[in-house]
This record gives sequence, C-alpha cells and structure tokens, in this order.
Amino acid sequence: MDERAFYKESQTTKPAALNCPFCHTQDTYDLHWTVRTKIDRLPGHADERDRAKFKKSQSYMVLMDDKVACKNLRCRKRFDISGVKTMAFI
Ligand SMILES: [Zn+2]
Repeated sequence: MDERAFYKESQTTKPAALNCPFCHTQDTYDLHWTVRTKIDRLPGHADERDRAKFKKSQSYMVLMDDKVACKNLRCRKRFDISGVKTMAFI
C-alpha cells in the first residue's frame, strides 16, 4: 500500500515573518502548506506491514513554497525562504 493512502490531503496557508536579503525589510508572508492528516483507520485490505507502518505514521505538513516575492514595493525581488522548517508534525 502506498503510504499516501494513510492520509487525507488538504492545503493551508500559515503566516511567517521573513526578512528580505536585498532590502532587509521584514514582513509577514502567507506560506502554502500541504497538510497530510492521518486517517482514522486503515482500509480492510491492509496487510501486516501496512499496519505496522500506519502505527508509526503521524499527521504532518510540508512547505510548498521555496521563494516569496518581497512585499516592499520598491524592491519586489524574489528571495529564498530560509529559517522556516519545511516539514512539521501536527
Ligand atoms: Zn526586498
């Protein structure tokens, strides 16, 4: 069984304070995350191995963005998101 079958997938945004490396302006950016919420129970056709894997799995989210566009209108450069965890258990 594909591990993806253990989760329900949804999208969310979360604010993060980021510093533009070009103009050094800090602002809050809404970053896009994919949320994988663990389903309550495995489907009937799951085998022993699936069950063991399922037991250890937990809900998590993955950061989708790797760049943002600076909000400072005089800058507007795109920069890499850094200092933000790209994966988090929930
Ligand atoms: Zn900037």
